Amino acid sequence: MKRFGVIAGILLVFLISAFSLVVIYDKGKDQKPLRYADIPQETIDWINNIGDETNDIISSFNPTPRPTPWDNDDDIGQDPETGLKTLEDEYFIFYFPESLKKAAYQCQPMAHQAIPRIEEIVGKYYYPSDMNGRKVPIYLSTDQQSFEQLMSKMTSSSNDYENVAGITVWEVGLSGFYLKCIALNGKYCFRDKKYTKHVMWHELTHYCYYASIDYGQYNGRLPMWVTEGIAEYVGYPGERPSFSNDQIQEMRQGCDFSAPHFKYVHEVYQGGHSIYCFMEDRYRLPALKQFLKGTYSEPLATAVQQAFSVSVRQLENEWKANLDKFER
Ligand SMILES: [Zn+2]
Repeated sequence: MKRFGVIAGILLVFLISAFSLVVIYDKGKDQKPLRYADIPQETIDWINNIGDETNDIISSFNPTPRPTPWDNDDDIGQDPETGLKTLEDEYFIFYFPESLKKAAYQCQPMAHQAIPRIEEIVGKYYYPSDMNGRKVPIYLSTDQQSFEQLMSKMTSSSNDYENVAGITVWEVGLSGFYLKCIALNGKYCFRDKKYTKHVMWHELTHYCYYASIDYGQYNGRLPMWVTEGIAEYVGYPGERPSFSNDQIQEMRQGCDFSAPHFKYVHEVYQGGHSIYCFMEDRYRLPALKQFLKGTYSEPLATAVQQAFSVSVRQLENEWKANLDKFER
């Protein structure tokens, strides 16, 4: 009888242990494993400051892991008090006032058309299955005032939105890249279909480019021409920017590829676009794509060297020597 008691005791301990393990496993099952357990402080600073350097990105580092699923239930647009309508499919959710219903139905196919272009150039499109079930939320605002109202709900950042046609708001947390929203400003968008499509593709490129970066590795700070330039290059397929002779002289004198920023906004956007066009002219598309892939985990100098076998300064000088090809 005594012996039976011991065996029963051992069995009981075993059963309790097994049960505990199942409970622990079940709890852990819904949690995405930590992707970025140890992001370097310099990269965290960069993430928190990207929005200071460009108008159409707001990014932040969130030190708290975000529980899964990352669906769209908590989107601001789901709140009935906003009065926003929704247009939803398997990849996107559009939130818009009734007056922009027609625009929403025009924007939906434009967003889908961006996917193959982004897959080709950026290397990957991030579907809901890559984002713990989260679809891309795209807000359409009628005018400057409603755009700014939306932004005040979306972020505590006090950016200047006066010249912002579209914006991408995201955060990097320990469990990965989380897109809060893309928003288009009716002050600039919806009248001209081609321009609206360009803004949408530009912002969707930001989403997929920044989602591709391996924040767990040292990245330091990417110059803004790298990220704004690729968004312009993807957003205007087959088109080339053009510049006045004065602008070309200014870029020749002032643009430093290694600096965080070029002096003028058009130098970052159209100038950045021209750098990618030049890369394609001189080194061809596969090398351009290899360069981009390099920037996801390597410092700029390494990415340039591996893709083009030149230094950053050499690439800069080659671009400057070829800027006449972009004269209008
Ligand atoms: Zn941009």
